[in-house]
Amino acid sequence: MPELPEVEVVRRGLVNWVRGRTISAVEVLDPRSVRRHALGAGDFIGNLQGAAVSDVVRRGKFLWMPLVDGAAYAPDNQHAAPVPEVALMAHLGMSGQLLMQDPGVPDEKHIKVRIRLSPREGMPDQLRFVDQRIFGGLFVTALVPTDDGGPGGLAESPLPLIAGEAAHIARDPLDPSFSFDLFYQRLRKRKTGLKRALLDQGLVSGIGNIYADEALWRARLHYARPTDTLRRSEAQRVLDSSREVMLDALAAGGTSFDSLYVNVNGASGYFDRSLNAYGRQGEPCKRCAAAGIQAIIRREQFMNRSSHTCPVCQPRPRNGRW
Ligand SMILES: [Zn+2]
Repeated sequence: MPELPEVEVVRRGLVNWVRGRTISAVEVLDPRSVRRHALGAGDFIGNLQGAAVSDVVRRGKFLWMPLVDGAAYAPDNQHAAPVPEVALMAHLGMSGQLLMQDPGVPDEKHIKVRIRLSPREGMPDQLRFVDQRIFGGLFVTALVPTDDGGPGGLAESPLPLIAGEAAHIARDPLDPSFSFDLFYQRLRKRKTGLKRALLDQGLVSGIGNIYADEALWRARLHYARPTDTLRRSEAQRVLDSSREVMLDALAAGGTSFDSLYVNVNGASGYFDRSLNAYGRQGEPCKRCAAAGIQAIIRREQFMNRSSHTCPVCQPRPRNGRW
C-alpha cells in the first residue's frame, strides 16, 4: 500500500496537470477497475464527460478530484466557480498509478481507464489509470459537508466538502486543520495501546505500520504504552514525530513532483535510506549508539504485523496494552 507521503506526491503532481481542465472522453478498458462505481461503467463515463476537474484533494490516503460543470467553470474566477457536488475518487490499492501521457505514447500493459482532457499548451492530454493487481479503482462519489466545517483535506482551494467514503476518517498529521486538542481528548479516552491508537483512522488518519514505528522511535515511546496514561507533552511528541517523518519522506520524494509520471511506486527512495526502527531488527539503535550505549532494535509480533523498537530508549511500560 502506498503511504501518506506517496499519495501526497501524487496529489501535488496531479493537480498541476489536471486542475481546471475539462474531461472530453473516457474509456473504461477493464470494468473491474470501476467496480466500486455502483451504477456501472456507462454511468461512470456519463458522470465524467463534460465535467471539469476543479482540484485534487487528499485526506489520509484518500484522494479525490471534485468535478464541476465544465461549461460553467472558469478556473481563475473563484467567485463564479460552481460548487462541486461529486468527485472522481482514485483508490490506488496496492499497485494503482495515475499517469499523464501524450496520446502518441503507447498504452501501458496494465492500463485500465483512459481519461482525455481538454488540450492545454505544453501538457499531456491523457490521464491514465494503470493497475497491475486490480486492487485499486476509480469511481464517482458524492461530496458531503465536513463534520467540523473545515476543509475536506489538503487542496489548492479548500472547500468544506469531503468525499463520502472518506467522511468517517480523522484528519491526518499534515492537515493544517488538524486539532491537537481533539486528538488528545480522544486518545485519553481510549483504553488501548499507543500504536494501535495511531493506526486507528478514526483518531488520526494516514499513519501506517512503518510510520507508526518510526514516529514512536522518534518520540522515544513504546508501542504498548496505555493511551489513557499519556501526558499532553508525550502525545504532542508522538504527533510531531509522525509529522516530521512524513515531511522528511516528502522532501526525499520531492524530485518526482515535476515528473510527467505521477507514480505512487518508488516515488520516494526514503525507506531505503532514512529508517531508524522499521526493518532494522538485529541492528544497533542509532540514537543509543550516538550516546555510546549498546542497544539492538527488536522486532515483535503486533496485530498480525510487526513492531520495531529499541529496548533501551523505548522501554516497555509496566502495564502495557496491545
Ligand atoms: Zn535506542
